[in-house]
Amino acid sequence: MSSAIQSLANRLNKGSSVVFFVGAGISTSAGIPDFRSPGTGLYNNLSKLNLPYAEAVFDIDYFKKDPVPFYTLARELYPGQFKPTKFHLFMALLQEKGQLHRVYTQNIDTLERIAGVERDLIVEAHGCFDDHRCVNCSKELDGDKFRQIIFRGEKVECPHCGGYVKPCIVFFGEGLPQRFFECWDEDCDEFGNEYVNETVAIVAGTSLKVHPFASLPEELPESIQRFLVNQELVGSFEDAPRDDDEVYLGKIDEFVDLLCRELGWDEELEGLVRRVEDSTEAEELEGEDTKDTKDTKDSKDSKDSKDSKDSEDSKESKDEAKSKDLRDLEDEAEETINKGINSLSI
Ligand SMILES: [Zn+2]
Repeated sequence: MSSAIQSLANRLNKGSSVVFFVGAGISTSAGIPDFRSPGTGLYNNLSKLNLPYAEAVFDIDYFKKDPVPFYTLARELYPGQFKPTKFHLFMALLQEKGQLHRVYTQNIDTLERIAGVERDLIVEAHGCFDDHRCVNCSKELDGDKFRQIIFRGEKVECPHCGGYVKPCIVFFGEGLPQRFFECWDEDCDEFGNEYVNETVAIVAGTSLKVHPFASLPEELPESIQRFLVNQELVGSFEDAPRDDDEVYLGKIDEFVDLLCRELGWDEELEGLVRRVEDSTEAEELEGEDTKDTKDTKDSKDSKDSKDSKDSEDSKESKDEAKSKDLRDLEDEAEETINKGINSLSI
């Protein structure tokens, strides 16, 4: 038994609450395209877009000139296409037990919410797909409209000034949401007032490279014991480890399985997993029932999405034929893009 699991199970058995700091690694088992693995749809799509550098897809100045790479990525990641993982459900289980303090997430996939974690307890540090605004005049655009337009493969232009519209996902060159700073101040005050040992921190599935998020775990008071659940040592767990840090290196969902078994929570966790599976099956059945009904929203949307994909594919093949020599450049760029994207935790 890993000492991290043993020690965390002891703390949870004694009623400790958890503050989470999470990144893309907790969502990869949900099937969200992994930026790190060449060969995924997302990776291939990005490398076809001739981005000057990988981060350009999230660069606000680049977006103002050419929003297509971001819209392509947004279609791939759009919430509603993925289900929460065991790790997300573990957070929901802690909430049911009254032991969830807060979840700081770098992810924009909203899987914490879908798992059932209350909005008040989630801090989406890098924004989300809630609110869509023009990058020039800041006027809001309806989210359904935004979604329909990007799934048709078109650019979303502001009806007031013609600027491009984007969701409130934080781009490079933009500040983090006010709520991030407010919650962090509030939590730090609380941690300072708490009796020693009442809260533990779990840092999971993140490379801890994107600041200011990356510095949160090292800003925690010494009284908060820190646990790292990750594929590798990262951030201050590596550079400035604390005596009572605990580290579990391995697969994140496996960690949840082992921990819940140790706590005797495995049946409750399985119950939550079944609930997610049942709701997926129900949606699939519903999808089959409505297949013949041409005007239903779902079938229309999926048709839109197919049409846009087809037209995009044919456009892409035309573009490729036109610019055959660009392929070599793309190949060279692939490695750079991979390296760059690797450091993004969205
Ligand atoms: Zn505008």
